[in-house]
Amino acid sequence: MRAAGLAGLLVSPGPDLAYLTGYTPTAVTERLTLLVIPATLLATGRASVVVPLLERGDLRHGPGTDGLEVVPWRDGEDEHATAARLLDPDGTYAVSDATWALHVLGLQRALPRTRLVACTDAVPMLRAVKDDVEVERLAAAGAAADAAFADVLRVPFAGRRERDVAADLDRFLREHGHDQVDFTLVCSGPNGADPHHEAGDRVIEPGDLVVLDFGGLRAGYGSDTSRTVLVGGGTDEALLAEQRAVHEVVRRAQQAGVGAVRPGATCQDVDRAARAVIAEAGYGEHFVHRTGHGIGTTTHEPPYMVEGEDRPIEPGMCFSVEPGVYLPGRFGVRIEDIVVAFPPDVPDGARRLNTSSRALQVVG
Ligand code: ZN
Ligand code: ZN
Ligand code: ZN
Repeated sequence: MRAAGLAGLLVSPGPDLAYLTGYTPTAVTERLTLLVIPATLLATGRASVVVPLLERGDLRHGPGTDGLEVVPWRDGEDEHATAARLLDPDGTYAVSDATWALHVLGLQRALPRTRLVACTDAVPMLRAVKDDVEVERLAAAGAAADAAFADVLRVPFAGRRERDVAADLDRFLREHGHDQVDFTLVCSGPNGADPHHEAGDRVIEPGDLVVLDFGGLRAGYGSDTSRTVLVGGGTDEALLAEQRAVHEVVRRAQQAGVGAVRPGATCQDVDRAARAVIAEAGYGEHFVHRTGHGIGTTTHEPPYMVEGEDRPIEPGMCFSVEPGVYLPGRFGVRIEDIVVAFPPDVPDGARRLNTSSRALQVVG
């Protein structure tokens, strides 16, 4: 906080609050809950949480709220004025990204001279480096997602709608311990060319490539993996050859991205390594997104593996490596694993937290 010139952090319910205190309110409503961590915390030991009086008891669900000064407010009170009394009226505060505009604007009204900035801009690496316990949880979430993938390989694809396969994936993720499913993308045939296509009513056909991208939270930590499968029974030999060739390019690009995690590498090096393979194969213009994103108590967070991000990769950073090729109107391929950088067992590289086969699997 001091390096970022902040007087403190203002954290409302969401991943930062869960990370810092273990507290996730039973219900997030329009009422203000706000953790106030001043930059003087180490000297004074004082941090506070502004909380609706009726939710005060709920704080016990967050083990890290024990040492906080609790500042309750009653319905009818101006909660932003209550919070403002804890702040330096001339200070700069980083506000957690998920804070409702209602509260950011309310705080601004109560403190017209105070500067509010986004946590992701001011302290982007707040949650980026994971400790051993966090890596273990991410590995467990990854293993659960891999188990869900093994299960989905056994369900019928041809003749069913994308949303039916998505419902299967949702169920499998939960059966393997996920308490929250964030996305189950099933992008078949031409829909595969749309990287964030939602599963819809299209009926999957023999010979389709299908991009599967799914994940959520298990024990508070995220999974996010993609595999592209081929539905058997296709008769267009030329198409089949092209599908296999593009899949192989993406598989090699993904391998190159993971291999770029070397001592001294920056985030953009991962993107460059994956992108170079795809460009060399002639598909450069069809790789339309960054190569990866961090993961932790959310499924998408800094650091980002993108051109221009020259931050060095640090031991314990966990992020996705997910190149893709998207051919409009035809098909798409994406392969995604979460990796941890420089773990004790791979001190000069990355270890994958998804280990399901990246070879092109044929489904029914
Ligand atoms: Zn995504
Ligand atoms: Zn994904
Ligand atoms: Zn991802």
